[in-house]
Amino acid sequence: MPELPEVETIRRQLAPVVEGRRIAEMEVLDQRWSAPALGVEVADAVRGRRIDRLDRRGKYLVWELSGDVHLVMHLRMTGNLLYADDARFARVRIRLDDGGAVVFADQRRFGTGVVLLGSDARDDYFASRLGVEPLSADFTADHIRELARGRRAPAKAFLLNQERIAGVGNIYADEALFIARIHPLRPIGTLRGKQFDELRAAVVEVLEAGIDARGATIDDFRHTDGASGAFQDRFLVHLRAGEPCARCGTTIKKIRAAGRGTYLCPRCQRAPRAA
Ligand SMILES: [Zn+2]
Repeated sequence: MPELPEVETIRRQLAPVVEGRRIAEMEVLDQRWSAPALGVEVADAVRGRRIDRLDRRGKYLVWELSGDVHLVMHLRMTGNLLYADDARFARVRIRLDDGGAVVFADQRRFGTGVVLLGSDARDDYFASRLGVEPLSADFTADHIRELARGRRAPAKAFLLNQERIAGVGNIYADEALFIARIHPLRPIGTLRGKQFDELRAAVVEVLEAGIDARGATIDDFRHTDGASGAFQDRFLVHLRAGEPCARCGTTIKKIRAAGRGTYLCPRCQRAPRAA
């Protein structure tokens, strides 16, 4: 699933070619994409509007349109946005006033789109879904400490919860916990002192490295021109079970945490003592 760095990569590639353009037409080819709203309702709401800015919140892409209208997309499992007229598994097509086009392609069809009228509606939408942006100034060690206070949730599950920290998924959680030397099953409320600083720094470091590598392509994620990201070549632990830890040489292990395949170094990330 595309995480923050993958969505940010798409945003950065698409922004220069869509910002300032108008939406000439939008076709929702798969009604499930916009349900319960009808595709024609979404198309009517955005037709003719100027794209003022392409923004991102967590893993959501936000098209800020003229007239305070916001088109919000989520790629979910296999969604991709391609700057192209057509693509395999096309579910939505946006035609621009300069002849360009953007296609939302999505093999497994879990991706979604919604139109929100007014910035209050947009803010309400995100307030109930997303916590702090990890690349913003609000993401501090104190903020994480506050979110973690008294919680028994394993560190991995804590990082994956979008309502606390927005945009971190399976790949970047594994990498950040390895860098911060925190076991994925460690109850988050038991972290001590500077571990919160180390966790904050590690999350920021891996997300920035992911953006720098233009995302990770394990299976479906593609750039807007169809190319692949490169962060998968830089994974330290994710998908590296059986290989030696880059830091200590111990064999990397795969476990299950928060219902997800989770990779760790059993020496660098000491298991929590049984309660
Ligand atoms: Zn190690």
